[in-house]
Parts: sequence; C-alpha cells; structure tokens
Amino acid sequence: MNQRQVLEEKWEAILSFVKNNYGISDVSYRTWILSLSIYDIEENIVNLVVDDSKINANSINFIRDHYSSFIMTAIEEVTNIHYDLNFILKSDIKRIEEDKKKKDSGSYQTNLASTFNPLYTFDTFVVCDNNNMAHAASLAVAEQPGTVFNPLFLYGGPGLGKTHLMYAIANFIVQNNPSKKVLYVTSETFTNDVVKALRSGNTAVSSQEMREKYRNNDVLLIDDIQFIIGKNTTQEEFFHTFNEMRDSGRQVIISSDRDPRNLQILDERLRSRFESGLTVDIQPPSYEARKAILSKKKDINHLDDVSDEILEYIATNIKSNIRELEGALNKVIALSRLQKKKLSLELAQEALKDIITPDSKKVVTPELIISEIADYYDITPQQIMSPTRSHNISLPRQISMYLSKEMTDLSLDDVGKAFKRDHSTVHFACEKISKALKDPSKKEAEEISNVISLIRKKLNS
Ligand code: ADP
Ligand code: MG
Repeated sequence: MNQRQVLEEKWEAILSFVKNNYGISDVSYRTWILSLSIYDIEENIVNLVVDDSKINANSINFIRDHYSSFIMTAIEEVTNIHYDLNFILKSDIKRIEEDKKKKDSGSYQTNLASTFNPLYTFDTFVVCDNNNMAHAASLAVAEQPGTVFNPLFLYGGPGLGKTHLMYAIANFIVQNNPSKKVLYVTSETFTNDVVKALRSGNTAVSSQEMREKYRNNDVLLIDDIQFIIGKNTTQEEFFHTFNEMRDSGRQVIISSDRDPRNLQILDERLRSRFESGLTVDIQPPSYEARKAILSKKKDINHLDDVSDEILEYIATNIKSNIRELEGALNKVIALSRLQKKKLSLELAQEALKDIITPDSKKVVTPELIISEIADYYDITPQQIMSPTRSHNISLPRQISMYLSKEMTDLSLDDVGKAFKRDHSTVHFACEKISKALKDPSKKEAEEISNVISLIRKKLNS
C-alpha cells in the first residue's frame, strides 16, 4: 500500500479521533470536518479538498485556522506519520490537474504550493503605507527575476503578508514566464531535506538530490529563514545554495521575522551577502489598511451581507496581525452560517467575544465625575467641593451631584458624603437638574443636557 492508500483506509478513524478528542460540536463536525477528503500526498504534505460546492469557498481559511492542528495530530496518532496539511478547493482541482500535466511535460516545476493557493497573488494583496515598499520590490523582482534586487529580503512580524508576497512573486513568474523554474520552500522543508541527506550518509553539500532540487532553479524562495539561521549544518548548506544561485544570476527571495542585522547569523559572510541585495520591511497595518484588507476579503469572497459596521468593528479591535483580522472575519461568518442568523454587529460581538475584550469599563465614582466636570468647566475639583455659592461653581457642582446619583448605586446620603454636604442638598440639586432637563425653555437647559450627555458618553455608560 502506498501512503495515500494507508491514509484513505484510516481516514474514518482519523476523523473519529478528531471528533472524540477536541470537543467539536456535531454541527461543526458535520459542516467542516466531514466536508474534507484526501486529494493526494506530496512529500510530507497531505492535500485535503474542501468541497466548495457544499460550503462557502471562504471556509477554507476557517477550516485551516481552526482544525489544521487537530487533523494533523489525529493523523499522526493514527498513522504514526507526521504530515503537514494543505487545503485546496474542489473547484480548483481542474486547474491543478492541468498545471500538473504541464509540469510532467517539463515546462515548469510545480513544486510550488502556490499553485494550490491561488488566493495569494498580487491582485489579492492590498497595498498600503505599511507594505508599499515590500510590494513594489516584490513586483519588480517578479517582473525581472535575477536582475534587479538579488537577493530580495522581506522581513516583518507574523501575519503581515510575507508569505502572501512570496507566493505572489512565484505565481506571477510562473504565469508570465512558464519556462522559468521556480521553487518555494519553507525553512522547515529545507531543514528536513538537509537532515535527510545527512542521514543517507551524504554530507549535505555534496548530496546529489539536494543539488538537483535546490540549485536547479531559476528562482528560489525560502520562507521564514530565521529557522535555518543558527543551525550549523543547515545554515552552511543554505549558504552554498544561496551563493551558487546568486552568483549565476538566479533570483533568491528570502523572508524572515526580523531584520538580517538581528539574525543570529553564524557566518558573517552570509549577513553581508543578504545585505548586498535589497532588504525591505512590512510594518503592522494602520486602521485604514486593516479596513481596506477586510473590504478586499469581502469582495473576493462575495460576502455581500457583511456590513461596513462589522468590518469597522473588526478593524478597530484587531490591530497587530492580518491573519487574526481574517480569522475574526471568518469567525463571524461561521457563527452566522452555523446559527443561521443574519449578520449584525451584535452577532459579530458575540462571535468575537473571546478575542475582543472590551476595555475594562471605568468604575464611575463621584470623584471621577467631579474631575470630568471640573475639566469641562475649566475649574478645579476643589472649587466644586468648596462652599462657594457663585453660579459658575454651583451649577457644575449640581450637575456633578445629579450625575453621581444617576450613574452610581449610591444613596443620597452617600453622594452627600462624597461632596461633604447633607442628603437634602443633593436632593435639591437632583430636582433642579431634572427639571431643567425636562423644560427646554429654561435657561441653560441646552447647556446642561449637552454636558450630561458628553460626560455620560465619556464615562462609557
Ligand atoms: P506572514 O507570512 O507574514 O506571517 P501571511 O503572508 O501568511 O503572513 O499573511 C497572513 C494572512 O494575511 C494571509 O491570509 C494573507 O493573505 C493576509 N494578508 C497579509 N497581508 C495582506 C495584504 N496586504 N492584503 C491582503 N491580504 C493580506
Ligand atoms: Mg509566513
């Protein structure tokens, strides 16, 4: 039996393992997990098909985010083999098979996960202030590989679009230049290959297989290089591969979670080589960028029922990472589909309550109210507390008393104590302000009502 048959045979057991061990509800299990089937196995990656004739194509991200690790663990438990997972859409299979045919006819190498990820292209990449340099450099390299910036070194925090840009470059070259051989690998794959070569008794550098796989390309993309750097043999192997490629004018593109200056590079020559090309960073997205990215996802996935209000809610509350931004949008959509509820801000809040914790509300006290009112009237809290009866102080004082009674659970007596007055003074102030609010013809009514709503808003009640 080949690996695939083994996996097919055990698929049911794998799914049961997922269901029984991770507290997944029946509905979720039926909706997401049962919609998966095995497409094939490539190296150590299992390609799973998401049946988008049954569920929204956008669910692919949701499934990836929520269930990959469960499924991976289950496969390992049941088969004793560790595989990585990749998800593909049923509707993409035809194109994938065509690509495969091309590959077999030798026109290009499809050892390129990007052919499985048509979502990561320049078209789907939103260009904003935080990433425009990285985008421009990537596009330039994609248009003229090996000539402009070599190597291209992209760096930035997690979930900011490094992998997306690398795939975009790879997709672009393969589409516009089918004769070019392009190889995208993660550092993990590279490391595994080095280890494999060593195990088979070869010193990695001289391993024929390694040479063929890595140096035989026009374009090599290595993602998340920080995992290679610092590992002696792997780094050395990489250094050789890199030099050979670069010296013969072939393009190398590298990504990392940090600036090359901050990598623990064992060999200084490598550092200076990295810096001989172009190094560009990707910064965390601004609010505008976050909103633009969410809008783009909405368009791409035809999520017409997602309102701007929901997008703004997500963009406001999830700040650091685009992957989380997308995850949040997917969560909202998943909840609405699962509960068959219309999308609304309330539903979004419900779906994201574990991720977005509202800023803890300030505890409203008379002191806080006094300080806000004093601020507003440009007087001091001491003046509000003082015995003075002048109108410009007594009105703010009465408003403070009114709000203290309205916005806290304190009794008249307790509010009185906070103002060093007795309860009848507080009672009188409350009456006066309520009357003023009810009678718009009264002098200062408008002012009072404005102040009150302003302070209420500010104290978040
Ligand atoms: P990294 O590799 O930097 O950790 P990824 O490239 O995996 O991040 O990006 C995380 C997710 O955010 C991906 O789904 C990607 O498509 C999306 N993304 C990141 N930047 C952008 C962007 N500028 N426009 C659209 N989607 C983006
Ligand atoms: Mg990445």
